[in-house]
Amino acid sequence: MLDNAARSDNELHSWDRDHFFHPSTHMAQHARGETPNRIVTGGEGVYIVDREGKRSLDAFAGLYCVNVGYGRTSITDAIAAQAGKLAYYHAYAGHGSEPSIELAKMVIDRAPKGMSRVFFGLSGSDANETNIKLVWYINNVLGRPQKKKIISRWRGYHGSGVMTGSLTGLAGFHNLFDLPRAPILHTVAPYYYRREDRSLSEEAFTDHCVAELETLIEAEGADTIAAFIGEPVLGTGGIVPPPAGYWAKIQAVLKKHDILLIADEVITGFGRLGTMFGSDHYGIEPDLITIAKGLTSAYAPLSGVIVSEKVWRILEQGSDEYGPIGHGWTYAAHPLGTAAGVANLELVDELDLVANAREVGAYLNASLKQAIGGHRFVGEVRGEGMMAAVELVRDRDDRVFFDAAEKVGPKVAAALLANGVIGRAMPQGDILGFAPPLCLTKAEADLVVDATKTAIDTVAAAL
Ligand code: PLP
Repeated sequence: MLDNAARSDNELHSWDRDHFFHPSTHMAQHARGETPNRIVTGGEGVYIVDREGKRSLDAFAGLYCVNVGYGRTSITDAIAAQAGKLAYYHAYAGHGSEPSIELAKMVIDRAPKGMSRVFFGLSGSDANETNIKLVWYINNVLGRPQKKKIISRWRGYHGSGVMTGSLTGLAGFHNLFDLPRAPILHTVAPYYYRREDRSLSEEAFTDHCVAELETLIEAEGADTIAAFIGEPVLGTGGIVPPPAGYWAKIQAVLKKHDILLIADEVITGFGRLGTMFGSDHYGIEPDLITIAKGLTSAYAPLSGVIVSEKVWRILEQGSDEYGPIGHGWTYAAHPLGTAAGVANLELVDELDLVANAREVGAYLNASLKQAIGGHRFVGEVRGEGMMAAVELVRDRDDRVFFDAAEKVGPKVAAALLANGVIGRAMPQGDILGFAPPLCLTKAEADLVVDATKTAIDTVAAAL
């Protein structure tokens, strides 16, 4: 293999246009060379650098995942050491590797109380596939084969497979793919700023969300509904913390109807909200928890499903009655991923990143509010822990949204990038999102805020 640094830029760029099928990309424009591409070659701390030598402060941590920041040699060394010793062995039929067992213990030690075991996969999507299969399995073991529907929320994001893309409540992930598939039902997004009835207080809006859930359950029949899945804070749907009291009231309804709760903590797990888990943050008592991104800070692909004691007991009953569970992936609990996970969680502790996410995240949110909260095109600045979003609107007093065709969100994200900072134009609505590495400093947060203000001013001047 040639050293890539020695290849000509033209060669790499044309191979990229001609051969590489990128996810979530305008395929035709990319192939025709009409949209910019970027070949990222390195990273250090909160910065990435590309082949042209351009450095950017990555205030989205890749895809909300590089929680410890780039270039952490304790993790890359651990991966290399594991690769040298044992790059792969499977985890089927009771086999394991040292880091897989160690990581399972570390995850359960950090998980909310009542959690029992962890099943390791590779991506958030496959972990949510596992969740749905486990929920169906459980209800078959319990002799209630009709209790199978899953309730998700509009604007939830749970992956882009057939089942997980169905759970996802964003049109862009359904259209032309024949999704959502049965038996997935969607209920209202807990998105106070975009509530239909603007006269509602936050508490009244929470009650509205709860009433909508109750109505759906009654219409479908509680005996047909197996589980409810939700992110503690809506992520890809717009970075939306829940309205006051939401989780306590939703949980009460689910308990009443014997519906399992899956907390999708792919973004919020391992510190992003300033608590180890989002469930700790909001007093959620899940039956199953999805984890991925922050588990390895994306140094290697790894995800997991954490199951509660209650769920585990039923799974044991199932295998006593029916034999070994018929579910697994070749790369489940891959030793390179779990070695990365062990080193990553050690680093999270060593650098006290959960506390840093709480402190610097609060600073980032407060600074954003102060700098742009009053801007005429900003409807809301919101966030929790090390997550923040800026909702861009045509008219803040009357809450008039921009026409999607104006692409105001993507324009602001592009202007921000030109100022050296990466934010994300969220896929539905003109929402600029931030989810920086948890090691962000206050000085770096200041850079993000200044660049954001400049970007919004630049785009506003042309509107
Ligand atoms: N769940 C949540 C909350 C996510 O944010 C994501 C990805 O962003 C997923 C699931 C899917 O994870 P993956 O892209 O690793 O399949």
